[in-house]
Amino acid sequence: MRLGGEIFHAHCLERSIVAEDKHSFFYDWGSVTTYAPDISSQELRSRVKWFINMRWFAILACAAGALIAATGIIPANLDPLDFAVTIAFLTITNLIYSMISRNFLGDKSSRREIQTLLLWQMLGDFTALSFLTYALGGIETPMATLFMAHIILATLFFTRRRSLLIAAAAWISASLPMMFEWAGIIPMRSIFGGQFKSMVTSSFEITFLFVLASGAVFFVCWYLVSEISSSLKLREHQLEGSHQMLIKIDKEKTQSTLLATHELKAPLAAIMSQLFTLRDGYCGALPEKARAVVIRIGERCNNILAKITDIIHLSNLRTLVVTDMRLVPVDLTAVVSEEVREGALIGKARNVEVIDLTENYLPVFIMGSYSHLKTLFSNLIRNAIFYCHENTGRVLVSMETSAKKVSVAVQDNGIGIPAENVDRIFNDFFRSKNAVSHYTGGSGLGLSIAKEIVFIHGASIKVESEVGRGSIFTVIFDITEAKQEKTNHGEHTDS
Ligand code: ADP
Repeated sequence: MRLGGEIFHAHCLERSIVAEDKHSFFYDWGSVTTYAPDISSQELRSRVKWFINMRWFAILACAAGALIAATGIIPANLDPLDFAVTIAFLTITNLIYSMISRNFLGDKSSRREIQTLLLWQMLGDFTALSFLTYALGGIETPMATLFMAHIILATLFFTRRRSLLIAAAAWISASLPMMFEWAGIIPMRSIFGGQFKSMVTSSFEITFLFVLASGAVFFVCWYLVSEISSSLKLREHQLEGSHQMLIKIDKEKTQSTLLATHELKAPLAAIMSQLFTLRDGYCGALPEKARAVVIRIGERCNNILAKITDIIHLSNLRTLVVTDMRLVPVDLTAVVSEEVREGALIGKARNVEVIDLTENYLPVFIMGSYSHLKTLFSNLIRNAIFYCHENTGRVLVSMETSAKKVSVAVQDNGIGIPAENVDRIFNDFFRSKNAVSHYTGGSGLGLSIAKEIVFIHGASIKVESEVGRGSIFTVIFDITEAKQEKTNHGEHTDS
């Protein structure tokens, strides 16, 4: 059964959530961004690829130009050969860039290496643009303005000084054809009869003025954009500083909560042990009514203890464990089957059927923490059981693998999650109204814990739900090639 509620995929960077649709929800921890004072190497690398892709579009535009020139739709003296030469040059250079980017640029490439490739790309483009500007009559067309796009990009990719040098290179490349035409080094090209062109190139003053004016435009453009980009980079830097500070404060706060909560646990455990002593008649037989009250107090204490345990678990995940933990190859199939077996026992007590569709599934290894993965699936399966209706409830646990990913889905036919709450259920202590009235025992922390565990594993979690029909929680992991021979539990490495 697939639920009717629409599915959406929203990507989340760091710990933020973007919800595209309220009926379902996607928490993706796979793409955590890291900050660098300047544009990061990771971003630079992605820019290299973007730049290469954009060039294929430029080549397409040149092909369109060649077609226009060949068909003669425009009354201009266009030569398809010029476009063909440009296309050939750009295609060869772009193939070289993409080969270098694929084979030599990896996670370990330095900023310098990436910037060098970007620089070569820009210089290659300047050569092509310079030729095309000349072929299309120089000042007769606005081709030279395309240099501006490179100046803008240079302020993002490089330091201010380097981007200024690139702006100068752009200016020289844009002006050279005109200067050479004026000096008679190359023949004058015109696509509109040549009157205006020959007037300009025959006079040194006008040519010089044109070159100067285009330089002024280029440098003003460079100055404005580099000012904006520097102030944006500075803002980003300041924001990152505040962000780190907030993380530090939050960590300290969580640690003090952890300490305070820990201190509550011991007296509560002592109270419970005294209650059990009373209940079990070690202080003399209690009247039936008093015994019932003691049992109720015991149940309440149990609930509080479960909440305290959840808070401690969550704080541990957020402060201590994440930085210290080592992930090892874990057989996900084994973890899931184990949790389904345990869930089946809980389900039995509520008369909810728990069906394991992962039985006979081959082992699938992921890099993970055995104990945390157990907690993750325990939380999802328990929720599925407790938010089902007694006697008619059904929980299905299934797995699906592709070449690189494995997903585990926990599906129930329970109360479902109201559309307006779907994007809040991973928040600490959040419980939807229908959940509170259906089941009083929850702490509102199970999914917060699940979210942290998903984060630790670089995985993602997706929710699809419809009130009255049920919910599906799907967790998606990357499969690892590595396998452990004897044990896949890896408990020893969990901190
Ligand atoms: P709780 O202890 O309340 O279950 P969780 O953090 O595990 O806390 O879940 C948060 C909220 O998400 C629940 O209170 C409920 O509103 C909703 N929820 C989680 N799982 C389900 C489910 N399988 N079916 C319906 N609602 C769910």
